[in-house]
Amino acid sequence: MTAENGFFHEILATLEAANKHLNLPPATFERLSIPRRSLIVSVPVQMDNGRIRFFTGYRVQYDTARGPAKGGIRYHPHVTLDEITALAALMTWKCAVVDLPFGGAKGGVACDPTSMSQGELMRLTRRYTYEISTFIGPESDIPAPDVYTDEQTMAWMMDTFSMIKGYSVPGVVTGKPVCIGGSLGRASATSDGLVITVMEALKHLNLSMKGMTVTVLGFGKVGFHAARILDSVGAKVIGVADSKGGVLNNDGLDIAALAKHKADTGTVCGFRPGTNMSVDELLGAPATLLVPAALEGQIHIGNVRNIKARIIAEGANNPITNEADKVLADAGVFVIPGILANAGGVVVSYFEWVQDLQRYFWDEAEIKKRLTSIISKSFHEVLDISRKDKVDMRTAATILGVKRVAEAINVRGLYP
Ligand code: GLU
Repeated sequence: MTAENGFFHEILATLEAANKHLNLPPATFERLSIPRRSLIVSVPVQMDNGRIRFFTGYRVQYDTARGPAKGGIRYHPHVTLDEITALAALMTWKCAVVDLPFGGAKGGVACDPTSMSQGELMRLTRRYTYEISTFIGPESDIPAPDVYTDEQTMAWMMDTFSMIKGYSVPGVVTGKPVCIGGSLGRASATSDGLVITVMEALKHLNLSMKGMTVTVLGFGKVGFHAARILDSVGAKVIGVADSKGGVLNNDGLDIAALAKHKADTGTVCGFRPGTNMSVDELLGAPATLLVPAALEGQIHIGNVRNIKARIIAEGANNPITNEADKVLADAGVFVIPGILANAGGVVVSYFEWVQDLQRYFWDEAEIKKRLTSIISKSFHEVLDISRKDKVDMRTAATILGVKRVAEAINVRGLYP
């Protein structure tokens, strides 16, 4: 993706494709094409060497017609306003696809967290939280983890916001440690939801989980848990890649041993038994299911034709460029879009927020049951639209999400 033809531009093209079926009033369509509010902040941080560095942070509230804005915070060198805006739009459609009473938001800081110490990351997180503290809150905008942020990041955010208020406000972020108001089941929720969508897709396509071959791109929170859960329900994970490269074993990889190898060496590369290969080569592996779970644009026109998979479940947000998506659609690959496949994370974030507001916590079985019911129902709603309107699953999910957001915008009307 180039600067002129960036990520947000791709999201708008998908919105336009959905609108061919929705025929929204022009003003509603325009409203949906523009973020509601965007905040850019400068984040000064004292580094361990005593120097002060200035990082740029963002928080975009794309739409709030259906409720408080919701979405993660990412730390990555490539974070830009364009990227955060695109991801905030996707969060808006995603929350609506699974029918949560939330709008959509996203935030991020342009930094390289892999080269920063825990102390530097804590100071960065606290100052960034302070800078966006007038923007966020349990009633207005609720952040969560995303790429290179985790439970610890959320604990620092919750603490900083609570210190400003003078009392504990657990509901300001989700994805917190359980001891300060986090929810059971949140850590693996995105991957749990993804596996539920895969199970529904397998039923639809008359395929079986038992022995199904899988390749997972990205071995962070989403990729690791997806590989682990798929393995535990009988699939055979033959390929895994991270940002440094991939590893393949046609007999199946030992996921627990692979996770230990990554913790010890920093990468999945070099794991044995297995063969090292590039991500592009790994796409050509004989896997029925492909789970891209790293960053957007990972599958593009230059590597899409390598893909052998029949099903793709997007753990990441928009890992496939629009151009590559067309190639897959023409080839009849069943793509479960991220706004459905990875929505399990925000669904359990919603449960966490509800539990925080009620100060009453549910057991894990309750969470899994409710998650399964929401994701399965949403899958079938999207599948029905895809059949009725004769569109792929991405367009169908966008139609469903955007329709719900547009309804809320229209019934609320224009202020003043
Ligand atoms: N970052 C996750 C996503 O992209 C979770 C967002 C949330 O829980 O608010 O869906």
